[in-house]
Amino acid sequence: MFGLMQDRPLLISSIIEHAARHHGDSEIVSRTLEGPVHRYGYRDAHRRARQLANALTALGVQQGDRVATLAWNGYRHFELYFAVSGMGAVLHTINPRLFPEQIRWIAEHAQDRVLCFDACFLPLIEQLAPLLTSVQHFVVLADAVPESSKIKGLVAYEILLAAADSGFDWPQLDERTAASLCYTSGTTGNPKGVLYSHRSTLLHAYGIALPDTLNVSARDSVLPVVPMFHANAWGLAYAAPMVGAKLVLPGKDLDGASLHTLIEAEGVTVSAGVPTVWLGLLTHVARNGLSFSHMRRTVIGGAACPPAMLREFRDRHQCEVLHAWGMTETSPLGTGCTLKFKHLGLDQDTIEAVRLKQGRVPFGVDIKIVDDDGNELPWDGVRYGHLMVRGLWVIQRYFGADQDAVDADGWFATGDVATIDADGYLRITDRSKDVIKSGGEWISSVDLENLAMAYPQVREAACIGWPHPKWDERPLLVVVARDGELDKAGLLAFLAGQVAKWWVPDDVVVLDELPHTATGKLQKTRLRELLAGYRLPGT
Ligand code: ADP
Repeated sequence: MFGLMQDRPLLISSIIEHAARHHGDSEIVSRTLEGPVHRYGYRDAHRRARQLANALTALGVQQGDRVATLAWNGYRHFELYFAVSGMGAVLHTINPRLFPEQIRWIAEHAQDRVLCFDACFLPLIEQLAPLLTSVQHFVVLADAVPESSKIKGLVAYEILLAAADSGFDWPQLDERTAASLCYTSGTTGNPKGVLYSHRSTLLHAYGIALPDTLNVSARDSVLPVVPMFHANAWGLAYAAPMVGAKLVLPGKDLDGASLHTLIEAEGVTVSAGVPTVWLGLLTHVARNGLSFSHMRRTVIGGAACPPAMLREFRDRHQCEVLHAWGMTETSPLGTGCTLKFKHLGLDQDTIEAVRLKQGRVPFGVDIKIVDDDGNELPWDGVRYGHLMVRGLWVIQRYFGADQDAVDADGWFATGDVATIDADGYLRITDRSKDVIKSGGEWISSVDLENLAMAYPQVREAACIGWPHPKWDERPLLVVVARDGELDKAGLLAFLAGQVAKWWVPDDVVVLDELPHTATGKLQKTRLRELLAGYRLPGT
């Protein structure tokens, strides 16, 4: 027997319809590339999204076509989010920080039909345009086409919109219809496309608005510093209109001074970004004796939150850090770290140790850890294994692949290594490919890097497993010295005081800099290439 309740599909168009109807004057504030701050409400955004849907239809965009964006966080990008998915086409957000060849590869793989880009990317697009065989229309997100442009047939977004009618009935799609596409940055191999559905996007947006996750409401002013090209700004571009929150979009300037000015001017209460961004903000704030008037929560993810950062936000700014873990393949929210009732009233050190973990899953996601043979490991907070995840907004199959990315029970191997404690809190200890296997035992490269970075002479550290005839691999520490000087023996003695003897690296190599990916993550594959020919002492 079926239930007799309404069976309305979970559609992205319903989010913007709801926001326009019930939070029509809640603001979307954008710092534009042109300079001034642009502000309007969800009602206006909905009207312009409908105009855009008509304009794209006039360009020949059909359901299922990919419409790509190369843009910072701003109101036009927001309109594209809702117009493209709402009309049944697929919004493909491209990371402009990728190398041009990667962008070309991704756009070709996705077979993008339209490419919309911020004017600042004009030189890049001019270089790429002849190579993008599937793209039929280039649209610059500006009032007019820059005079200098060499792209044939380039059109300006505002001119397209001005000619379009604002009446558009969003189609009642099947909720499993593809809505957006985002490629992982491909730290190993070619990038892979994650194709979100309307259903997964809506459920994820519900999930991230919950009080134990990102906790956004109609009383918040939300600043996603995390880009809209990086896993849909962690879902905030959907969750904010879903709950009617004010949305603040920072544009391209993400330095400490620009962010602080915006946070204060727009009464930002909650923000979200990667540790590097917060480092810049906190340094600026400390140097200039500034504070935050309204910001009470900040979400930190994408990489581990350093303990000092959590303390500075908490002690100097009364700002709660929500440490979260996820990946493009998990929409991205996997876990968020908030306390349980049983933790309340515990001493600060115990609470801090909990809060520095990556947290626990909301309903809708499940996790487990397994050994090399796939056997599930206990949740004791000590044993660590390969992290597996499944859930309502987790990938089933990569775009264009001919087989699923999950095992027979629906588990997706994240490529991360983690512990899970008895309360279900996850702690990421490594990437599977980076964990160091010494004599059959595992050594966490991340733990060693974090400890090394606490040594005053170390500015940055990477720890990698290096071939060893007896132990298979032994840890090799590669560091950038803070002021050009490094006492290697002192550093190793410092580590020896804090880890088991067999964890202490066999050697320390000093480099001028470490290689990073376009998204700022350590590129250990490249590091191994740079060190080719190196041999550990005594081997
Ligand atoms: P990629 O870098 O492959 O494009 P993502 O941007 O989706 O992938 O990043 C996902 C990865 O980032 C995770 O698998 C994990 O290794 C790392 N990560 C994300 N959040 C955290 C966190 N809070 N702590 C440690 N690592 C994290």
